[in-house]
Amino acid sequence: MEKTDIVIIGAGVIGLAVALQTVENHPQKTIILLEQHETFGQETSSRNSEVIHAGIYYPRGSLKARLCVEGKNLLYDFCRRWDVPCQKTGKLIIARELSEIAVLEDLMEQGAKNGVDDLVYLEKAQVRRLEPHIYTEGAILSPSTGVIHSHRLMSQLDFQARQSGVLMGYRHRVTAVERIRAGYRVDLLDPENRRETLTCQWLINAAGLHADRIAAMLGIDLDRYGYRITPCKGEYFSIDYAKSNLVSRLVYPPPLQGLTGLGIHLTRSLDGRLRLGPNSFFVDELDYRVDPDHAGEFYEAARTFLPFLELTDLQPEMAGIRPKLQGSEKAFRDFIIQHEKARGLEGAVSLVGIESPGLTCCLSIGRMVADLIYC
Ligand SMILES: Cc1cc2nc3c(=O)[nH]c(=O)nc-3n(C[C@H](O)[C@H](O)[C@H](O)COP(=O)(O)OP(=O)(O)OC[C@H]3O[C@@H](n4cnc5c(N)ncnc54)[C@H](O)[C@@H]3O)c2cc1C
Repeated sequence: MEKTDIVIIGAGVIGLAVALQTVENHPQKTIILLEQHETFGQETSSRNSEVIHAGIYYPRGSLKARLCVEGKNLLYDFCRRWDVPCQKTGKLIIARELSEIAVLEDLMEQGAKNGVDDLVYLEKAQVRRLEPHIYTEGAILSPSTGVIHSHRLMSQLDFQARQSGVLMGYRHRVTAVERIRAGYRVDLLDPENRRETLTCQWLINAAGLHADRIAAMLGIDLDRYGYRITPCKGEYFSIDYAKSNLVSRLVYPPPLQGLTGLGIHLTRSLDGRLRLGPNSFFVDELDYRVDPDHAGEFYEAARTFLPFLELTDLQPEMAGIRPKLQGSEKAFRDFIIQHEKARGLEGAVSLVGIESPGLTCCLSIGRMVADLIYC
């Protein structure tokens, strides 16, 4: 039975960032990252809007608010330092009708409370000068919002973590974890489907959509502690490339109460393509196909602020699945990032419900987890 100091489960952007920050904090420790797929980022981390969020929407003092504001700055610095493509495109949160201006005022206040100090309110005519092809009654400009090449980010994190000594166990699926006297026993299947066992002192659960299952293996009562994940799908449709030059910033309608996402919005990728999404609906299985019949829903949602849009401009693009904690309830749920010592699981760290803005927060989450580890 192989012995290691720290095992991290999951090579999405979170597991990779945790691996890098942990090896930097604890260079003398042995660290293994286990991932069931052949490489990093095969699930949620490569199926998202790739937006670096400013940190406006989340309740003050929440992990989402704090880690987003901190993570955004860390991420821009990281991209600059290691040549990871990103662009501060800026984002407009728009009022589609006069009644939504009050919502924008609340969001300005919320953003300021969270430390997002660069938001600017723009009157209708000012927005028109910036983005003549969108329809709005007024907007908040968030200059620090941007987009990032998430694959290049993960590839850089993977490279640096390896260079610093993290062992990458791709094609290793964790099948069981168990508390033992001196830490944890981890059972896995290797690339040839052979059973292997590791023991470790620290077990970091960054298993994304499957993180609740790993928590349950440790004996954590999912329903009692609110750890159960309900997958919530989000589809994207791309807009005809001929219309790419009509908008240069990200455009979001205000989030409406009770929405499980931020609402269908417009993003612009680093290569200049426009796309709409994601919508939001709960699913029972991890099926990433996009239903072409949903084009009408996207068209109806977006044509109110993109008057140039025609139904025929939309093509199904891709889908991602959010690891939602709240199920179909509407209340805000924060990230769960917790050392489970109080539950008798010293050395086990849970990362559960890491939905948006998880990509933006990867480095601040990595730092937070690395700081929890003592050995
Ligand atoms: C539609 C959508 C849009 C989003 N947009 C944004 C955005 O614009 N900006 C932003 O900041 N965030 C966004 N997010 C959130 C962001 O994508 C996630 O927070 C982030 O990718 C989560 O990363 P992760 O590493 O926790 O999960 P994942 O990327 O899912 O990684 C978890 C990994 O664990 C592995 N794993 C699971 N179980 C096992 C096991 N038993 N053995 C071995 N390996 C295992 C999986 O294979 C997977 O690779 C969005 C999310 C969605 C769904």
